[in-house]
Amino acid sequence: MTKLTVTTAQQWLDGFAAAIAAHKDYLSELDTPIGDGDHGSNMARGLTAVQAAIDGQDFAGLKDLFKAVAMALISKVGGASGPLYGTAFLEMAKLGDQDADLGHLLDAALAGIRKRGGAAPGDKTLVDVWTPVVEAVKAGSLTQTVVDDAVNSTKDMVARKGRASYLGERSVGHLDPGSVSSGYLFTALIATGVF
Ligand code: ADP
Ligand code: MG
Ligand code: MG
Repeated sequence: MTKLTVTTAQQWLDGFAAAIAAHKDYLSELDTPIGDGDHGSNMARGLTAVQAAIDGQDFAGLKDLFKAVAMALISKVGGASGPLYGTAFLEMAKLGDQDADLGHLLDAALAGIRKRGGAAPGDKTLVDVWTPVVEAVKAGSLTQTVVDDAVNSTKDMVARKGRASYLGERSVGHLDPGSVSSGYLFTALIATGVF
């Protein structure tokens, strides 16, 4: 059982925002050969809005914090990734204050992502990072290696969802941009020291 607190969650989101800002151009470059080259700018716009919504705010609980995060992501990221990341935080907001166990929160978030986007593991989407990471969190064994391996596993996959799926076999050999940004999300979670 790893419990998330409002303070740790705010630290987590600050770390995620910093990583997205630092890697904005890289994320858009990854999205160029197999997408439309906007994943970095989409995410950077969204995380700037997240920071504006949460910095210096006193949240009564995880529910209020995650709701604010979800609204900022849904209204500002756009593309395919905005509603997916937004849904993840909305699902965590729903559990929020009754159950702050990270395994349960992330499990609910992943279920929401899968329902919304219809992607399964192996389709070369951010589901390929979330799935092994959530398993590891539930087993109490999330490490940076788990995150890095999950991100890298998308390189050899054939895309079956999202824009990259239009390329079919030609999507092989490229990392999935949404998986790389999700990798930053979980790297930032590890960096809070919550585990
Ligand atoms: P868009 O493709 O609309 O330009 P982004 O570039 O911001 O949106 O996001 C692309 C990322 O979204 C992909 O790299 C992939 O990880 C993720 N993605 C796209 N479609 C789906 C889906 N149906 N399910 C899960 N993830 C998806
Ligand atoms: Mg794109
Ligand atoms: Mg786009």
